Amino acid sequence: MTATAASLATDDDPRTAQQRSGPPYPIAWRSSIPFLALHFVPLLAFVTGISTTAWVIFGVSYFARMFCITAGYHRYFAHRAFKTGRVFQFLLAFGGVTATQKGPLWWASHHRRHHRESDTDGDVHSPKHGVFWSHVGWVISTEFGPTDLDGIKDFAKFPELRWLNRHDWVGPWSLGVASFLLGGWSGLVWGFFASTVLLWHCTFMVNSVAHLVGRRRYETTDTSRNNWFVAILTGGEGWHNNHHHFQASARQGFRWWQIDTTFYILKALSWVGVVRDLKGVPERVQRDHR
Ligand SMILES: [Zn+2]
Ligand SMILES: [Zn+2]
Repeated sequence: MTATAASLATDDDPRTAQQRSGPPYPIAWRSSIPFLALHFVPLLAFVTGISTTAWVIFGVSYFARMFCITAGYHRYFAHRAFKTGRVFQFLLAFGGVTATQKGPLWWASHHRRHHRESDTDGDVHSPKHGVFWSHVGWVISTEFGPTDLDGIKDFAKFPELRWLNRHDWVGPWSLGVASFLLGGWSGLVWGFFASTVLLWHCTFMVNSVAHLVGRRRYETTDTSRNNWFVAILTGGEGWHNNHHHFQASARQGFRWWQIDTTFYILKALSWVGVVRDLKGVPERVQRDHR
């Protein structure tokens, strides 16, 4: 990093408080053109049509990739909320890179920093710098491209994860080609690109909407909120105030009615021995849930 975000908060920062509340770093518009252009690719469905196969690819790839992001990138790599073997660890990482949200080490190291510095100037995507910044601005800014390997040493020691992190294009290209082989142009345009765009923005909503709209069951020092709508779209990640209060848990819906499909799948996988030692929610944390 050229300048830490924390340093921007010092007294000799010449910017006014109002300026500080805007995006803390410039947006790299030029290098973000491919990312922005991909948002328009699903419009080609007007030309290709949407076949039944394309809808199946759309649905399966959305839910499977969301699981790899929530269970893998988030709960496993960033928070170590459960244990698994090296093969399933790699499968989670590979599924995660197909979601086109960069590599597992990049994602998890930035997310750990979000928790360490939630809603302070050191936070990578606090909505106090604006909704746009927290949703997508930070991703396409000039600042957060490199992976902070020091922040994720525990997983950076695996060469296969470092390789995947460096060559994260492998994921989207593999899934893109597979979608084309299975469903032709319609499979590629709708099954892959449209579901990828939806997946981006539903994931990003955890950083924007779930820090702005919803109930605060716990008085955390950050702005996190429980938002049922985001929870439905993201397999349970919308119970974000719960998660900020007790990050270690593999479960983010702390009450039976807080739907958390990622946790249900992890629980089922634990019954067949694919994952183990799912960290639970202590009784005192359950009790404080207002
Ligand atoms: Zn987290
Ligand atoms: Zn958060």
